[in-house]
Amino acid sequence: MDLDEREIVSHRPEPSPGVLYIVGTPIGNLRDLSPRAEALLKRVSTIACEDTRHSGRWLKSIGVNAKFLSFYKHNTEKRLPQLLKKLEAKESIALISDAGMPGISDPGQKLVSAAKTSGYEVICIPGPCAAITALVSSGLPTERFCFEGFLPAKSKERKQVLQDISLEKRTSIIYESPNKLIKLLNELNEICGENRPIQISRELTKRFEEQIGPTIGEALSYFLNKKPIGEFTIVLGGAPEVSNPAINHDELLNSMKQLTNNGLSINQAAKIISNDTNYSKRFLYELAHTKTEKDS
Ligand code: SAM
Repeated sequence: MDLDEREIVSHRPEPSPGVLYIVGTPIGNLRDLSPRAEALLKRVSTIACEDTRHSGRWLKSIGVNAKFLSFYKHNTEKRLPQLLKKLEAKESIALISDAGMPGISDPGQKLVSAAKTSGYEVICIPGPCAAITALVSSGLPTERFCFEGFLPAKSKERKQVLQDISLEKRTSIIYESPNKLIKLLNELNEICGENRPIQISRELTKRFEEQIGPTIGEALSYFLNKKPIGEFTIVLGGAPEVSNPAINHDELLNSMKQLTNNGLSINQAAKIISNDTNYSKRFLYELAHTKTEKDS
């Protein structure tokens, strides 16, 4: 028996009835669809996907004849009971997203959770994921990282998340659309400083794939000269170790207070503490203002 045969017989037949399969699909290069994923998609009875037209066209072209059922953000609640009913009827279902791993920045996780809660088996057939592909191509630390996905659009929540990201020691991964990339880079520039390491992955796995960095300042000037077009994943280096790691927010505020009591403006105080601690000036300025607003 050669290796291929051993590999195949060591696994149970796929698909099994009443199982939900989470199937990773390419993020650009169609040759990244694994043989296992392709074989399964050709055999399941239903494929739940975000955009039936987009995925349907491609999958039909490779010989997939399953039923396609749309499953996206705005019809999730309606679809969940329908999909569970199919599992109850011993149908096999594959969940795919427009690209990459379902469940990452799409409604996939809700279906997985509902299926598991109702006692159905869930099996993942792994494939490409933009976040992980960008991370491992970035050269930034991969030992510990956090995934932020798309940042909130609402200003108050966004500000809070940006502040958290600016203090995060681990590498952060962010998804952003091309038309909002410069706004995000400006925000990161202000809160993290222009020297923070960054790698922006553009068009991963595609013909015009490129990495832009190595700092926020340089990435920003690159995109101010060249309009962002395509798909982007941002990998941001973690916050540098502060010179005094024991410093917490209260201690920072106390130091700021001492300086402002001596007649300096919040802006001047933030600049001095920023030099001493590596916290960004903008972060310190906002910390002091948030505290003042809470107190008043
Ligand atoms: N579930 C997918 C995954 O994790 O691979 C991501 C889906 S999310 C709705 C789409 C976002 O992923 C895009 O806006 C972009 O930020 C990122 N992305 C997807 N494909 C990409 C590519 N080829 N190059 C860079 N980023 C990509």
